[in-house]
Amino acid sequence: MSLETFKSLETDARRPTQGSVGILGPVRDQKCLHSALAAVAHVFGPQANLIISGGCDSSPATSQIVSQLGFVNVNFLTPAEMWLALSELEVLLVPAPERSIPATLLEAMGAGVPIIAAGVPHFSEFAEHGKSGFLVRGSTQEFQRWLEKLSENRELRDRVSRQARKNAIARFGQSLSTTCMSSEDRSATASRGFRKCIKDAVDTIVPSAMLRWRSKTRRNEIAVTFDDGPHPQYTPEVLRILSSYRIRATFFLLGNRAEESPEIVTRIADAGHEIANHSYSHPYFSKVTLERAKWEIREAERCVSGIGVPYHRIFRPPFGNFGHRSLLSPWLCSHSVVYWNVDLKDYRANHKSEIEALLAKTVLCAGDVILYHGVNSASIAALPSVIEAALGAGDRKCVTVSQLAAS
Ligand SMILES: [Zn+2]
Repeated sequence: MSLETFKSLETDARRPTQGSVGILGPVRDQKCLHSALAAVAHVFGPQANLIISGGCDSSPATSQIVSQLGFVNVNFLTPAEMWLALSELEVLLVPAPERSIPATLLEAMGAGVPIIAAGVPHFSEFAEHGKSGFLVRGSTQEFQRWLEKLSENRELRDRVSRQARKNAIARFGQSLSTTCMSSEDRSATASRGFRKCIKDAVDTIVPSAMLRWRSKTRRNEIAVTFDDGPHPQYTPEVLRILSSYRIRATFFLLGNRAEESPEIVTRIADAGHEIANHSYSHPYFSKVTLERAKWEIREAERCVSGIGVPYHRIFRPPFGNFGHRSLLSPWLCSHSVVYWNVDLKDYRANHKSEIEALLAKTVLCAGDVILYHGVNSASIAALPSVIEAALGAGDRKCVTVSQLAAS
């Protein structure tokens, strides 16, 4: 479109600015950005308050398009600043094809901002085209069509806004309504939202015998699990406490630590606990090759089996890493994968009160899998409280991960 055409569009502009228009980058394809901005200029006029974020500002071509179209109120924001500004947005445009759904887009939905997006994969699925957002191919006419509809029809805009919030909350929980959060909290919440979304997707297609976070169970049972052992000083303490409550647990052991303390591995097994695999040397599975990942699992299995104790082919990825290597490598080694759904962060506690405070905020339910480590003094001191909470009013049982899965 020529400059003359834009000038004529400018004089055509019928509407005063209503709120702000957000533009989400990065926009590598300047043509798409041009289409979106030309539509904004046409519908809202050059006085429209533009809020542009996501690396568009680093491109001189963007500034050129903005000034060509005669926009006078232009703010380039960082993603964190953009999130704080979301509540001011009338609409958010995502002009360029994205490889994934950007966090800001989900945040905007949570804030009830209608979205007009070009070529974001899975966007239709998230926003349900026409309900909480609009998926367009990226021409000026298409952006313009939906901008006009939204700005002319307040009822439609409000309905789309409500549906956007509803969709975001349905997918990511109430916690995504982050209007009161700091930008760091917002960032963490959005990435949690992504992770939850991916986990939900995987969860629906992978049988629970291969992968689980918790168990659907009819019995009132919970599994307490211990990672990163055996520890020469603390694991005997854990065993003493478990035996005083007469409960069974699952130990996800590290192969190299089992090698160093085989007698403790024997004691764990002799007490009737379940022994499972947490890799040989606790690497980030996202940072090793698939071959190395498989080696880590097989080597840990070899170490534990070599001690001559019962071994269960259950694997928990180090750091709870969730990715293709963390899942594929155990599956290729005939192990099921068990994460957890309750994390009491005992590994980083300096005092038992920190763990107990977290425990007090946690509602435990039948089928839960509790992540614990028991490899520092604070976690040993808090362990009786954890077990008592897991046992509930006395009608709940603590069992191993395999027993929980079988119930
Ligand atoms: Zn670990």
